[in-house]
Amino acid sequence: MIIMKQEQVQQIIDHAAAAQPLEACGLLGGVCDETGKTVCKIYLLTNIDQSTEHFSMDPKEQFAAIKDMRSQGWELLGNFHSHPASPSRPSAEDKRLAFDSQASYLILSLQDQERPILKSFCIASDQVTEENIIIRGGETNG
Ligand SMILES: [Zn+2]
Repeated sequence: MIIMKQEQVQQIIDHAAAAQPLEACGLLGGVCDETGKTVCKIYLLTNIDQSTEHFSMDPKEQFAAIKDMRSQGWELLGNFHSHPASPSRPSAEDKRLAFDSQASYLILSLQDQERPILKSFCIASDQVTEENIIIRGGETNG
């Protein structure tokens, strides 16, 4: 389970909308306990691939984000990227590149511009499990 604030979801949506038609990406920092993963900060990163179908995070920004998390006492909970024109589920490449089975892989689909869909997945080798997202201060989203 991953717990986010409505504003954090909106940050991801805004970042992804601004990057269109390219994929957008970023990292999630926060705390992990018995309750689940609570997101404290969304790090909006640059997709250096500048692609509509895949992404690579800017290594410098990635490093700075991890450094910031450590200074705050947070953990890297996972990452997010957008699918500008496809559904919110991991692509074959997303699965291939998912090397951390403990991480949350969030995918925001902008396929329906009016209704962006954010989902979170745990990916272990080829096995994909959807993870619940609890949104505080707004409506819940499966
Ligand atoms: Zn993807």
